Amino acid sequence: MPKAKFHIERKCNICGTTFIAKTLTSVHCCRKCSNAANEV
Ligand SMILES: [Zn+2]
Repeated sequence: MPKAKFHIERKCNICGTTFIAKTLTSVHCCRKCSNAANEV
């Protein structure tokens, strides 16, 4: 029985979509939004 199975629900900073973050530092739902955030 895995005890460390968790996922992090996040809300995308860019489009507001709720998504499951694959890493603790993910704040965007997809690469597209990540790129948008980096293009400021
Ligand atoms: Zn997004």
